Amino acid sequence: MTTPLPPSLQEIASCVSGYDPNALPVAQAQEFIARLVPRVQAVEKLALRSALGRVLAHDITSAINVPSHDNSAMDGYALRGADLAAEAPTVLRVAGSGFAGQADIASARPGECVRIMTGAVMPAGLDTVVPQEFVKVDGDRVHIPAGVVRNGDNRRLAGEDLAVGDIALAAGRVLRPADIGMLASLGQAEVLVRRRLRVAFFSTGDELRSIGEPLDAGCVYDSNRYTLWAMLQRLGVVELIDMGVVRDDPDALRAAFASAALDADAVITSGGVSVGEADHTKAVMAELGDVLFWRIAMRPGRPMAIGRIASGGHQAVLFGLPGNPVAVMVTFYALVRDALLAMSGVNAPPMPLLRAASSEAVRKKPGRTEYQRGIVTRAAGSGEWQVRITGSQGSGILRSMSEANGLVVLHHAQGNVAAGELVDVMPFDALI
Ligand code: AMP
Ligand code: MG
Repeated sequence: MTTPLPPSLQEIASCVSGYDPNALPVAQAQEFIARLVPRVQAVEKLALRSALGRVLAHDITSAINVPSHDNSAMDGYALRGADLAAEAPTVLRVAGSGFAGQADIASARPGECVRIMTGAVMPAGLDTVVPQEFVKVDGDRVHIPAGVVRNGDNRRLAGEDLAVGDIALAAGRVLRPADIGMLASLGQAEVLVRRRLRVAFFSTGDELRSIGEPLDAGCVYDSNRYTLWAMLQRLGVVELIDMGVVRDDPDALRAAFASAALDADAVITSGGVSVGEADHTKAVMAELGDVLFWRIAMRPGRPMAIGRIASGGHQAVLFGLPGNPVAVMVTFYALVRDALLAMSGVNAPPMPLLRAASSEAVRKKPGRTEYQRGIVTRAAGSGEWQVRITGSQGSGILRSMSEANGLVVLHHAQGNVAAGELVDVMPFDALI
């Protein structure tokens, strides 16, 4: 069997309605990227505990009922609901007892009950448990006041957590603590997960210095690689290949892109993709692959390179992000994050946006998406969410990002925002 060739960038572009590489709306850029990125196919079998945070490769169907028997939810007395007198106390004789884990629990005849512990199998024919704190015991008699328990109370039904044949967990789920516990409850020692997506990243620019190097005149420390590392790390599902700073030299860039395409599924770079950029990054990207240079209708983060680069028969998706430190973060959250999750095989609902009242008027031109750094708080009194734009919004001012706790998303068609108007906010703490 042969794998069909992936569609060319031109074919993808022709499927995206309103595609214009020189003024590309964010929604169209997202759609293009979603069509471009392949999903990791390889799977691996892991011991249950090693699978925390990994992407489940297939649906898990329950082969057993959990719990396997009707059982008691309380310490108390198991009885027949039908024996309860409606308006008067009920007196039952204690015919035996049942403990958790015991298989052969004695049953009881009408007018009798069984002393039972939490988790113990319900004796045959009994359907109700009265908690011990509600009753008075007198020798082998239990006095149950009227109204403390109804038919069927405090009994857990077989299969109420998971019934045989239920899909316990669906493929594409990032396994969380409750999922690990649920797999254990099914007796599953191992689990099939997708191979981790390998993401290579590097910074380009001759003005960049790495931590530890002296900061020569006209230079800045490379911060993008650290921000990117941190955002990728937070994503949780990827394996990272940090390739450092690559000089603006065709041979150095060629070697870096070739090695990245060989080792990684996705390559993320920052810098050198602006329109009119004098350096070699764009030329080498175009030389090694099929790459488009976009001007996205967004602020910050207008320029971006997207496509595929190849080396030694291997192919990687390229995300060439702009160099400005805020633009790197914004383009990552707006365009790269979901793509990497999709490549990892994650099947997740879209990132939740918060609706908050803008505490001031905001100027906004329709026809581009703006991501402003904001601080979300709860208004004293009403308790409603409100958001205030943080200091300077320059795309080089990383401090605005650090001070913010969310990105205010002003959508493509949206115009000026009045004070008090509700806006969408991408809260940072909701990013997994
Ligand atoms: P560029 O997109 O290469 O034109 O870069 C735009 C701006 O971002 C310039 O001021 C660069 O110095 C700055 N910049 C580029 N890459 C980085 C980086 N890795 N760390 C910090 N600043 C950067
Ligand atoms: Mg540059």
